[in-house]
Amino acid sequence: MRHGATQSRTLTRLQARLRGEAGRAIEDFRMIGPGDRVMVCLSGGKDSYTLLDILLSLQRSAPIDFELIAVNLDQKQPGFPAHVLPDYLAALGVPFHVIEQDTYSVVRRVVPQGRTMCGLCSRLRRGALYRFAAENGIGKIALGHHRDDIVETLFLNLFFGGRLKAMAPKLLSEDGRHVVIRPLAYVAERDIERYARGRDFPIIPCKLCGSQDNLQRRAIKRMLAEWERDWPGRTESIFSALRHLEPDTLADPRHFDFAGLEARGLRPMSMEEELGLEEETRTGAQHGWGADLAAGLPGALVPGSAGVRGGQGGRVFEPAAKPAHGIDSASDPQSGRA
Ligand code: SF4
Repeated sequence: MRHGATQSRTLTRLQARLRGEAGRAIEDFRMIGPGDRVMVCLSGGKDSYTLLDILLSLQRSAPIDFELIAVNLDQKQPGFPAHVLPDYLAALGVPFHVIEQDTYSVVRRVVPQGRTMCGLCSRLRRGALYRFAAENGIGKIALGHHRDDIVETLFLNLFFGGRLKAMAPKLLSEDGRHVVIRPLAYVAERDIERYARGRDFPIIPCKLCGSQDNLQRRAIKRMLAEWERDWPGRTESIFSALRHLEPDTLADPRHFDFAGLEARGLRPMSMEEELGLEEETRTGAQHGWGADLAAGLPGALVPGSAGVRGGQGGRVFEPAAKPAHGIDSASDPQSGRA
């Protein structure tokens, strides 16, 4: 659907959901405040188009004033249709800027043939975009990563890095000069796909660079898709777990004072204490999905998955190998697509 055409009811409902989820993430993590200048990184992929679209929509109804500046990095990939984004943004009337920097040649020169180029490409892109933000007094940088990117990154780190590490909805950039935000952190990728189709965004293909796919990420994506098919709601359950950490059940003394644990002693317990303990156990058991649903957290349990609880019945994944390093997300600053 091109700009200005009438939107179907289904698309309007989907837009309302995306607005709600993005609005909740912005509020939960205090992503945007009055007077903020927010740089929206646009790659031309579905995620970044959706991000800009939803932020513009929220900006119109927000109780505070903030500024949005769309920024694209033209990496000089062969065949990149340089006019597409400027035409789209000019028609929208959004302030925008295109940075031109030939990161493509650098990546091609440095990365051996047949290897994935995304790591270096993302780092160079991040550098160019952060530099632009610093030079233009922009404090907030919005990226299009969504819930599925976050869960995939969790499993990449778990399986290949031996760390419980995902991708935060809000973080400080490495040099401490910017706050990076991910307003689509609660949004499912399938909803973004539907929305992008419905809005008929002029998508620029991702594979112009000719990079090999990241095989590990592809395998994780496939695994999660199979799980989701067999147990609908599982991805949401995993994402919910990221919001309900229980460090005393893990094994990292930096996050729980195991050394300081002391037993209460061996005196007999009163009936009230025993009942209190029982009560505590009972309440604790409700802190999984049931509590999430009651609190209206994103992604209600899909019919058929009843009984799935955070913790998955105590099933534990062990890291496959001793950690060499943490895998640092798909931190593609223009979108979540790399
Ligand atoms: S797929 Fe995206 S991140 Fe990866 S090398 Fe190509 S342009 Fe860069």
